[in-house]
Amino acid sequence: MKSEAIIAAIDAGGTSFKCALVRGDGELVSTWRIPTTTPQETLEACAAGFRRECHTNNLELTALGIASFGPVDIDPASPTYGTITGTAKPGWHGAQIGPTLAEALQIPFYLDTDVNAALAAELRWGAAQGFSNAAYMTVGTGIGVGLCLNDALIGRPTHPEFGHIRIARHDEDRAFQGTCALHGDCLEGLASARAFEARWGNPTRVPRDHAAWNIEAFYLAQACTNLYLMTRLDRIVIGGGLLQADHLYAKIVDQFDHLMGEYLPMNGAGLVTAPELGEHAGVLGGAVTALKALS
Ligand code: ZN
Repeated sequence: MKSEAIIAAIDAGGTSFKCALVRGDGELVSTWRIPTTTPQETLEACAAGFRRECHTNNLELTALGIASFGPVDIDPASPTYGTITGTAKPGWHGAQIGPTLAEALQIPFYLDTDVNAALAAELRWGAAQGFSNAAYMTVGTGIGVGLCLNDALIGRPTHPEFGHIRIARHDEDRAFQGTCALHGDCLEGLASARAFEARWGNPTRVPRDHAAWNIEAFYLAQACTNLYLMTRLDRIVIGGGLLQADHLYAKIVDQFDHLMGEYLPMNGAGLVTAPELGEHAGVLGGAVTALKALS
């Protein structure tokens, strides 16, 4: 009997590392969370957790799959594969997340960005299941997009920087400078959660009938039309903190249909959707990253 893969999966975030034992069919055996402190302390706690859970469940690990915050080297051919390459989080520049854990657990590691990994998980088990062409857009502090065309993640060995495209201004939003440190009013500078808060405050306190939501939807719908017109993809899964305001989906769909007109047969309701994997998308994304490499 062929033994089933058991993946040590990690959703590596700036606040916490969510860990899980995941079977090859996506079943979560157990999940737990470790606060993100120093690299050494955090990674040692991760390795100890995996040893403990394997012992408790009488399982043996096949591989490590990591969905990581960035900037991170995701090129398997690079000598710094699996290493944090930027200084966004104090103390983490140069942290060898993948190599350190692989050494500690004596198994191979596979690592991708959190957005690419979430897209891979939604394609295999979630809202984009059955499609070969899909994107995952996360709208949080920044805007990140993972794009898969003809079953291949685009931009390898890096990833798209679609958050920084230029978009048209809303008529009622002419004065705002935008929050992107590099471009001012790019998509991220106008439509990220940070940009939203800069104009209208905490989104959880902005009423549903406030004009802010129409302006936000106008920008995200432009992102969707640009993605669709360029690639003719089948699904755009939109997640991230700002989309906890779930009334935003219907507004994005309306604006998408308005911007597209009758030009092509796709409508927004058939294209734009919420993620299906919820809070587990990150660890499942890590698991899929490993499973794809192992298959
Ligand atoms: Zn930008």
